[in-house]
Amino acid sequence: MICSSLCRVPFMPVLLSWVWENSHSRRSSFRGLRHNLQATLMPELPDIAAYISALQPRILEQPVTQVRLASPFLLRTVQPPVASVHGRVVRELRRIGKRIAIGVEGDLWLVLHLMIAGRLHWRPTGAKLGGRKSLAAFDFPKGSLVITEAGTSHRASLHVIAGEQSLASLDPGGIDVFASDLNTFRDALKAENRTLKRALTDPRIVSGVGNAYSDEILHAAQLSPIKQTHKLEPGEWERLFTATRDTLQLWTHRLQVEAEQSFPEKVTAFRTGMAVHGRYGEPCPRCGQKIQRIRYANNETNYCAQCQTGGKVLADRSLSRLLRSDWPRTLEELEALKRR
Ligand SMILES: [Zn+2]
Repeated sequence: MICSSLCRVPFMPVLLSWVWENSHSRRSSFRGLRHNLQATLMPELPDIAAYISALQPRILEQPVTQVRLASPFLLRTVQPPVASVHGRVVRELRRIGKRIAIGVEGDLWLVLHLMIAGRLHWRPTGAKLGGRKSLAAFDFPKGSLVITEAGTSHRASLHVIAGEQSLASLDPGGIDVFASDLNTFRDALKAENRTLKRALTDPRIVSGVGNAYSDEILHAAQLSPIKQTHKLEPGEWERLFTATRDTLQLWTHRLQVEAEQSFPEKVTAFRTGMAVHGRYGEPCPRCGQKIQRIRYANNETNYCAQCQTGGKVLADRSLSRLLRSDWPRTLEELEALKRR
């Protein structure tokens, strides 16, 4: 009843969220970078892993006493009803792409996608849902997991689903780099000839990587964000694969350690210690040259020319055009891609 008729089409919620995630959401996000830190980062693999680490000791093996919905926009499914999880014990927490899946007894799952402005908070049990930012609360004996979303865009979503098969339908299908070897990684990224930036951040290709960590990965690999995947040499594939795993591992570890101290309330676009992301004009930690940027759509890619593009700073405008043309802008374009 809340869900539009589109949501009843198989895979349509996934398609829609993918398009939102990759095109629409960027239209409003980059109007000057640093003024709105909270709103410009979609939680990526390390952030989601940190949330899961923080949630485990709080809700695992605990019953969901109640789910309270404050926003009519959050819940995207009708069956099973959200109340069907009430009283069931949490058995598992899982990351699916950029989603957090909470599995309860009876193979029912609460699946959250925070999109860009959604965040999680841990509050005392029964915490009031005040203000427009609060979307919902999941109440547990030890506290309440509160979901908020800045702005008025209503992109964060909750799916209540039954069974592994339904869960799998929410997975965009990108590879888990920690469960992949070099060949699997290369095959996935080479399936289409894309810029590295696009290939790394495409949820159908790689799981859990977005704008921030792809910048960090490409800097660590010393590769240009606009290099085409079909042009990579064997040595460059090795560097990229190693950099992808190392960067995600480093940040996952860092954020999980922080999450053990306190619940990760501050998931921001720019983290102290990042090499290039969000550091336009600042010195590269490897060579000291100023970090460059490519602006496209309403997003921004940061890189070091000295370390990544052979010292070449190409015209921002032409690069922007290339990155923009390398991205599906509409649902139709995405469907065309999926058919290929
Ligand atoms: Zn550099």
